Amino acid sequence: MWTVTSYVLRQKLAGRKQYPLVLMLEPLFRCNLACAGCGKIQYPAHILKKDLTPEECFRAIDECGAPMVSIPGGEPLMHPRIAEIVEGLVARKKYIYLCTNALLLKEKLNLFKPSKYLTFSVHLDGQQEEHDLAVCREGGYDIAVDAIKEALSRGFRVTTNTTLFDGADPKSVRAFFDDMMELGLEGMMLSPGYSYDKAPDQKHFLGRARTRRMFRAILSNRKKNWRFNLSPLFLEFLMGKRTYPCTPWGMPTYNIFGWQKPCYLLQDGYAETFDELLSTTNWSNYGTESGNPACANCMVHSGYEASAVNATFSSLGGFLATVKATLFSSYRDEEALRLLEEHQAPVNPLIQIATANDSLQETRA
Ligand code: SF4
Repeated sequence: MWTVTSYVLRQKLAGRKQYPLVLMLEPLFRCNLACAGCGKIQYPAHILKKDLTPEECFRAIDECGAPMVSIPGGEPLMHPRIAEIVEGLVARKKYIYLCTNALLLKEKLNLFKPSKYLTFSVHLDGQQEEHDLAVCREGGYDIAVDAIKEALSRGFRVTTNTTLFDGADPKSVRAFFDDMMELGLEGMMLSPGYSYDKAPDQKHFLGRARTRRMFRAILSNRKKNWRFNLSPLFLEFLMGKRTYPCTPWGMPTYNIFGWQKPCYLLQDGYAETFDELLSTTNWSNYGTESGNPACANCMVHSGYEASAVNATFSSLGGFLATVKATLFSSYRDEEALRLLEEHQAPVNPLIQIATANDSLQETRA
């Protein structure tokens, strides 16, 4: 928290309007799952075979200077040099969130050393049935929970990251939070799904109004022991209590194509350097207010969490609202309790969307 605070204050003092908070570093697109809502693994085979080298990863972080690095993918644990990448980032004192579906986590833990800079951010989309459905893999939840326990017992930092799609049952999500806190996780991350045009399942992405309604039901009347690893103002944004403009430069994406314009989700070209990304992207074309249909329903954390963090440090009101949200708010809301009782869409049958490699054996790096 102190690292982020001092970094953001330095940017403010320097008068920087567009600064990166988290580098979204995608060192590969390969994965050992084929989730219905994923827009990353539909690349042709020759692209899926490619990896960023550790040197390319280090150049990207040195260029942009963000204090935190999120490593999604693909599945980063399938990268043959992931341990080198993590080691180099730790040496640079970057806080790393290594996002993994955890299918390979248990067997790859030996590659890493526990560090305050390294957190495994395990992708879990809810309780067992919901998660296995979302990732199109029966048994995925049990493997991930087993790996989480192992990582915690060896002294690693572990959080979860959860993407919620239309039809998610708020009651079940709340029960999932209880389960995760019982495991002893450090915190939980949340985001609504984004409607990737490449994703096989186009029916279950949330519109903005439905997103707010769902998150109001989930996050109101909050239990004291729930810990979220997100800006509290971003959570209020998801609940419909605040509005923010998208600030996609806050979480820029670097992958095998270069710096992706404008954000983690859209691909309107690439820049060779971070400075080029900032100076050549027409930022006014993006965000909900822009009228760009690709942004119309978007509330994802990679577009809006940096906006919420920026709001904390932009005024005394923003700072006090963050303190209040962190220390005092349980968000009591009778209407939200009623929303919890609303009928939920039935869970769909579990289907395998694409032929991700069927056995873990085949997908080991
Ligand atoms: S609104 Fe969403 S899709 Fe549009 S630029 Fe922002 S993060 Fe990307």
